[in-house]
Amino acid sequence: MKDFLPFHRSDVGDEEVAEVVDVLRSGWLTTGPKVREFEREFAAMVEAEHAVAVNSCTAALHLALEAAGIREGDEVLVPTMTFAATAEVVTYFKAKPVLIDCVPDTLNLDPDLIEAAITKRTKAIIPVHFAGHPCDLKSVRSIAQVHGLRVIEDAAHALPARYHGKMIGGISDATCFSFYATKNITTGEGGMITTNNGEWAARMRMMSLHGLSRDAWNRYSAQGSWYYEILSPGFKYNLTDIAAALGLAQLKKCERFWKGREQYAALYQEGFQSVPEIICPTSAPHVQHAWHLYVIQLNLELLRVGRDEFIRQLQEAGVGCSVHFIPLHLHPYHRDMGGYRPEDLPVSSKAFKRIVSLPLYSKMSEGEINRVVDTVRDLVGRNRR
Ligand SMILES: *Cc1c(COP(=O)(O)O)cnc(C)c1O
Repeated sequence: MKDFLPFHRSDVGDEEVAEVVDVLRSGWLTTGPKVREFEREFAAMVEAEHAVAVNSCTAALHLALEAAGIREGDEVLVPTMTFAATAEVVTYFKAKPVLIDCVPDTLNLDPDLIEAAITKRTKAIIPVHFAGHPCDLKSVRSIAQVHGLRVIEDAAHALPARYHGKMIGGISDATCFSFYATKNITTGEGGMITTNNGEWAARMRMMSLHGLSRDAWNRYSAQGSWYYEILSPGFKYNLTDIAAALGLAQLKKCERFWKGREQYAALYQEGFQSVPEIICPTSAPHVQHAWHLYVIQLNLELLRVGRDEFIRQLQEAGVGCSVHFIPLHLHPYHRDMGGYRPEDLPVSSKAFKRIVSLPLYSKMSEGEINRVVDTVRDLVGRNRR
């Protein structure tokens, strides 16, 4: 068997190593000047006024919902085609995530289903930009405005992405990014919240560090003062300077990483366009797709095998792949708590049986992309009805 091609490899080079070593030698390891620099650079890049660095996107979503004033008994709309975190943070408040089905092509939330899901208790919506393709934010925002809902974007996949020319990150009440190891840029673990609302930024920053009136850098540095007050019971979500140093080096490469993924996605599109058994992901003309994931859908009517067997054969042929996502409503917790049946969210239930995420990352070579294309085409040929 050929070498196994993993589903993901992080793209970390000498620049990251040098930045991190500088911080390690500097004597200041936790939240300090590198985090502030990372926040400034990040805000500038996504065209937002404020950025607050935290230790995960999950923490970012939690803090944004806290700033939005979510309380026990509230409802928050969440697409079912997402990762656990998007709905989990709602339950931190004893509030209820209400799941929304997706559209069949981009697998983003279906805006036509939002209004029917709104009740007197609905306070916010968390749209996700699935795979890095911005969702229909215009519809989401206009419905949110009519019903007084806060919009908190889960942009874990959407860096760098644009919607009608605007960067994802500077549009809604708050936008949450992830720097988890497999995301478009990484700090190992990490996240960022961007907002144009100065009050929200201050609240989220304070709540990210125990609700204290001053962070450690402001207490221990030369200009600092030892005095602080607990203004609200907060959380321990601050990012370290070590992670921020890694993030700064990654941020400089963000555009190059994206160009690489975009070029590879185009090679996949070309390689599969004449294969009717494979439905390729689409990209609307009014967006810049961040191409975090390349998710194909199998045309099962034309194949003798199901998705699970297809993935097994792909793995056996040396290509690592994954599934994004098992829709939330099919998981035991949400199924039981929300009383969802698969047919209640039919588009995502059907899509789930067909989706396969192929490897797509800057560390791949063109040869490896071609190898994936050949392997997939070969498997399709052998499993054709
Ligand atoms: C990765 C991911 C998250 C969580 O990010 P963390 O930084 O690991 O907390 C949230 N939402 C989506 C859609 C994700 O893919």
